[in-house]
Amino acid sequence: MQEKTLLMIPGPIELDPGVLRAMSLPTLSHVSPEFAQIFGEVLENVRRVFLSESGQPFVLAGSGTLAMDMAAVNFVERGDKALVVNTGYFGDRMAEILQRYGAEVTQVRAELGQIPPLEEVERLLSSDSYKLLAVTHVDTSTGLACDVKGLAELAARYGALSVVDGVCATAGQEMRQEEWGVDISYTASQKAISTPPGLALLVASQKAMEILAERKSLIAGYYTDLNKWLPIMQIYEERRPAYFATPPVNLIYGLRESLRQMLAEGMDACFRRHRIIGEAFQASMRAMGLKMVPHRADDMASTMTAIYYPEHIGASLLGKVKANGVVLAGGLHPAIADRYFRVGHMGPVGPGEILTTIAAIEKGLVSSGYKLEAGLGLAVAQRRLLEL
Ligand code: PMP
Repeated sequence: MQEKTLLMIPGPIELDPGVLRAMSLPTLSHVSPEFAQIFGEVLENVRRVFLSESGQPFVLAGSGTLAMDMAAVNFVERGDKALVVNTGYFGDRMAEILQRYGAEVTQVRAELGQIPPLEEVERLLSSDSYKLLAVTHVDTSTGLACDVKGLAELAARYGALSVVDGVCATAGQEMRQEEWGVDISYTASQKAISTPPGLALLVASQKAMEILAERKSLIAGYYTDLNKWLPIMQIYEERRPAYFATPPVNLIYGLRESLRQMLAEGMDACFRRHRIIGEAFQASMRAMGLKMVPHRADDMASTMTAIYYPEHIGASLLGKVKANGVVLAGGLHPAIADRYFRVGHMGPVGPGEILTTIAAIEKGLVSSGYKLEAGLGLAVAQRRLLEL
């Protein structure tokens, strides 16, 4: 029997069939009043999902890296100082992008598996004049979740713009952009936003928009220039069509449906579900004797988990888990890439998906010769999942 496989990587993710169905509707003209209604609703709902009622949303065709590019090219000018809180691969990428646009980048790191302490970030912020503080909310290479609230507070105190890469976090990991004072926050559609890959979403605070307006030098990107996009987004939100570059019409239909579903659940309920599922999964891995990349349970993301293979068992585990019906991801952090694997648990995941994943890992471990009491991981997870 050919069973359907379950896609449990940290994006793209398993999607709700309603989102896929929405995308199969006929492609409208991007400048028709009907499409303006749809895109307008999407922009309004992006504010709600980011919990940023006064923020300015931008939705562009592209991936998460485009969103990173947008944040960097628009908000730094040559010679500006930027501080990157680096917890893995995507911190490295952000530092590289900021440098590309002329920023003088300082990075603050901790030992692999740990998060730089707020005191260290504060020491650096107070020792120089930083234009911007960039942080990856959940670094997908380590599964570490940073204290965005604390970092945004620090950035505001020292007059730096806070930039949050929420690609592996937004709509899964708790984030309250307006309340926490985050200036620029972005994500991509294929993660907890629960739409196929292809959209970059960014929300900028009013303060960030003022800084953009005061910029002296020309923005080095053309497609990524937010000044080009600002009137377009504003006009669409007023339910009128506008044109700068063609939006991916059918992906916007999918996004409309996934945002509607998220808001019907409610953001608080959505964050809580992700937290319980994440903790249930991490508790089950611990019960099976597996070690995770983050050292402290409190630093682990709700949206994904990075787990070391047990000794003498390597990447062959992933093939066995796939044969049991679940697709997982290999390592990404260059220092440990072949020593660990990654599991995504974001978007429309419930007890069914996470228990199936744990069962497939258990079976894969047993067939790799790992000594394990069958069902132990499932029982531990189930105890926590009863809270849902
Ligand atoms: N930032 C983070 C935290 C990510 O997880 C990813 C993608 N895995 C990106 C940025 C880049 O996104 P994309 O692959 O969609 O360009």
